[in-house]
Amino acid sequence: MAQVIYPRMAVIGCGLIGSSVIRAARQAGVVGEVFVADASAAHRDRIAELGYADHVTGDIAEAVKDADLVVLAVPVLAMGEAAAAAAQALKPGATVTDVGSVKGSVASALKAVLPAGVFAIPGHPIAGTEQSGPDAGFAELFQSRWVILTPEARDDEPYLEAIQRLTDFWSGMGAHVDRMDPGHHDLVLAVTSHLPHLIAYNIVGTAADMEEVTQAEVMKYSAGGFRDFTRIAASDPTMWRDIFVANKDAVLEILGRFTEDLQALSRAIRWGESDKLFELFSRTREIRRGIIAAGQESAEPNFGRDHGKHSAD
Ligand code: NAP
Repeated sequence: MAQVIYPRMAVIGCGLIGSSVIRAARQAGVVGEVFVADASAAHRDRIAELGYADHVTGDIAEAVKDADLVVLAVPVLAMGEAAAAAAQALKPGATVTDVGSVKGSVASALKAVLPAGVFAIPGHPIAGTEQSGPDAGFAELFQSRWVILTPEARDDEPYLEAIQRLTDFWSGMGAHVDRMDPGHHDLVLAVTSHLPHLIAYNIVGTAADMEEVTQAEVMKYSAGGFRDFTRIAASDPTMWRDIFVANKDAVLEILGRFTEDLQALSRAIRWGESDKLFELFSRTREIRRGIIAAGQESAEPNFGRDHGKHSAD
């Protein structure tokens, strides 16, 4: 069994990601006690029933008192408020991290409210599913997945040690850890995650709105491609609303590029430029093969999703 890295961990928001962190950390043996704060009474009851926390409360300050590591796992726009509620109760030397899908705004929010003597190290595990809530979590979620940390630009020894400790924590759960500037993270994720979700929400919305095609027909004749979009478009509305509000600039920039490329494709179709279409489709097929070769996706039919849990964002 691995060495305990944090004798006490507090997780604020115990849904899919928060509960997966607890399950994975317990399984890996990298934490001692686990305290949880969640705003939902129903989720608190369920977490207590599942039995993987030592203490469950609705009070954030109570949960973080004496914690060595605090993991904020609430929706992106709730991060600042949760950190503020924790701030005065944190012990000096504690590390506060988060798992939010947007990093620029969260890094600023943490910096604004956390006291000196506490190490703020924002983070984002690139792993997830379209499910929510404490029952959706599982211990293997972070296995072979990337976790991006976006630490502050400072190089004092205690902060560097805190980053190393957090890196060891995630590595202990089977994740690969990388570091990035928060703004760069938000641009990369706008391309790889946020735009694909926006397209999925839009395409499913368009199909649902088409008056000549009934809802029943959309369901009955939905082909594989559309079904994959509906899976992505079933993702949690609160989480994704927050992501688009918090990552507005990067998403709009990438959306502009995407719209131009779509116009070019539309033109190629209109003018029968089949070579252009074939060249693009060949290039994109290679990209998918590269993702599979990098171990970030399965080559099985339907991405292996029929065989169990899978990763998204
Ligand atoms: P989730 O399953 O909905 O869990 C969030 C939990 O936090 C819920 O129990 C929620 O209660 C609770 N909560 C909300 N606001 C709170 C507050 N102010 N104080 C305390 N608890 C609060 O969401 P999730 O999918 O785990 O996402 C959590 C974070 O992980 C988000 O920031 C998201 O961007 C990030 N993330 C998600 C994924 C993914 O694939 N889902 C992947 C990577 C990162 P209520 O239900 O009552 O609101």
